Amino acid sequence: MTAAWTADQPIVTCTDVRKSFGTFEVLKGITFSVRKGEVICIIGPSGSGKSTLIRCINALVPITSGTIHVEGIDVTDPRLDKLALRRKVGMVFQQYNLFPHKTALENVMMAPIHVLRQERSAVEARSRALLAKVRLSGKENSYPGELSGGQQQRVAIARSLAMRPDVMLFDEVTAALDPETVKEVLVTIRELAEEGMTCMLVTHEMGFAREVADHIYFTDHGVIVEHGPPATFFTEARDERTQRFLSQVL
Ligand code: ADP
Ligand code: MG
Repeated sequence: MTAAWTADQPIVTCTDVRKSFGTFEVLKGITFSVRKGEVICIIGPSGSGKSTLIRCINALVPITSGTIHVEGIDVTDPRLDKLALRRKVGMVFQQYNLFPHKTALENVMMAPIHVLRQERSAVEARSRALLAKVRLSGKENSYPGELSGGQQQRVAIARSLAMRPDVMLFDEVTAALDPETVKEVLVTIRELAEEGMTCMLVTHEMGFAREVADHIYFTDHGVIVEHGPPATFFTEARDERTQRFLSQVL
């Protein structure tokens, strides 16, 4: 099942992915891949299937047909080891869902201790380092309610990184934030990308996409209607739906 994958192959490969909820087909044949160290952005109107696609990659939603592989792991295999997949794929959502009665540090420490059964003192040292990395040194003992939305989202990113993922999925992680804290979260993601983390982001932050993405995909009604590197995507979009969308957001 995993034998064929080598590091020079894409980390994530989706081939003709289709997903229906009842009779409603949300994804209508999505094909793309993400190579190690690449940053891809998925943009598109609300309801076009972006979150569904992200959730399919992490096996939170079963696909109807097609294939998804993450580092050679067949995500649709009924015998899929979900923990093995989740160790490779980190995910951050719009709603950060931190445990409200745990401190920032405890939130980050939780999965390594309770899921991976790692030794507490090593986990604590590493979790402090992760909080420093997302620029939250000094906030280790703060509870989520004492932190701004942007700070909470950075705790959520640190919590995800604590599992040492090989690819990070971000689904509109700044959409619920106050404008003044959006930037600090984008800076954190940019730093991760610059360190070589493979990232897949659903975002409406076009400035960020233009600067940080290696490749941009535009989805509408469950299909990729246009894609390309930022240099051409923003200036040479041929598809009429993409042009209309860009004219509204740029
Ligand atoms: P986006 O993230 O691009 O806004 P979504 O992937 O959230 O789009 O949703 C795409 C479409 O699929 C929407 O019409 C949404 O209502 C529908 N959908 C998403 N999840 C479910 C579900 N669990 N059951 C039924 N319909 C769903
Ligand atoms: Mg969405």
